[in-house]
Amino acid sequence: MPGLIDSHCHITFGEPSSNDELFFHRPQSTSMLVAAFNVPKLLRAGVTGFLDADCIFDLGPALRDGIEAGLVEGPRMTAGLNALLTSVGGTAGRLIPDSGTVGYAQVTGGRDEIVRTTRRQVKYGADWIKVHATGSVPNRSGELTVWSAEELRAVTDTAHSLDTPVVAHCRNAHATRLAAETGVDLILHASFLDEPAVEALVASGAAVAPTFTFLANLADHGAMVGAGGGQADLFRGEIEATATQLRRAFDAGVPVLCGSESGFSLTPYGHWHAREMEVLVDAMGLSPLQAISCATRNGALALRRPMDSIGVIAEGAAADVLVVDGDPSVDVSVLGDRRRLRHVFSRGRSVDLHRPWPQRRQLPMETVGQWSSEVLTWDRVHR
Ligand SMILES: [Zn+2]
Repeated sequence: MPGLIDSHCHITFGEPSSNDELFFHRPQSTSMLVAAFNVPKLLRAGVTGFLDADCIFDLGPALRDGIEAGLVEGPRMTAGLNALLTSVGGTAGRLIPDSGTVGYAQVTGGRDEIVRTTRRQVKYGADWIKVHATGSVPNRSGELTVWSAEELRAVTDTAHSLDTPVVAHCRNAHATRLAAETGVDLILHASFLDEPAVEALVASGAAVAPTFTFLANLADHGAMVGAGGGQADLFRGEIEATATQLRRAFDAGVPVLCGSESGFSLTPYGHWHAREMEVLVDAMGLSPLQAISCATRNGALALRRPMDSIGVIAEGAAADVLVVDGDPSVDVSVLGDRRRLRHVFSRGRSVDLHRPWPQRRQLPMETVGQWSSEVLTWDRVHR
């Protein structure tokens, strides 16, 4: 079968367990070393292509070019630079400054600045421009739409005029509709889709990478690693509500792509790239072969390749091939078990699957240090 294409992967994040770690415990030079250490794991998990649309310190294009030049072993990669955010912020709320950059974020605003920032990203090697169309604010539930239609249009018009597609993080129905209507090419999450959003998707031709894997891992296994805080039902509800509507979009021809959101402690590299297909089967009711197409053939879009030139087994197509012990067209979960991968071919060459899985120790200051886990009151000592 064709190699997997992960359309939503954060190779430069280095598996942080909090936004504090991601934004404030990742020096630039160290981040590149960690990314170079992690990227071979993708290949060894059967991922032969991936899109990393937003990276910390704009490292993506350099990593992509390093892989292509043979400095680092890794899959084919398409890369973005920082994600564009308005001053409201993105998923990290108040950790995002009012202007400037932090971690993966570049705060922008006003037509001129948005145009200039978009042009700059293309100049420095962006295959994709990423926008956080929604963001979280402390006193509100869910995520708010934090871009106007005019601002989004400034991104898409500028990017498209420079032959560059745009991908948007959208975690509410309104933002998904807005993104589709303003010419965004790929929508991540598309959470809580409603009818107008589905209609806008169908009319626009935008693709969707729902990226259920992070939520599914949190809901199903989070408690095992101290995550989720009893919100498993909430996450399951988000998957169910989104999947039902996304199925309607899928049936109407909206391309669905598979992304794992690998790059966090709940989605470490090389472990969960195939899980999205299981969720598409379970929650969206796709057949295993339909789900596999989302993670292979449809991934051509994320890699900016012509359809059927990659992600398929065909004469003349890219020689990215897996040999699997099992039949994923019957049970797609076999693709998540690395022991069942007999061979991985990337660009026609066999990947060595017999080496030990890469291991490392923690770096100094890599995690958030705590003084204590509880407060030492006088009463506590003297009771
Ligand atoms: Zn993401």
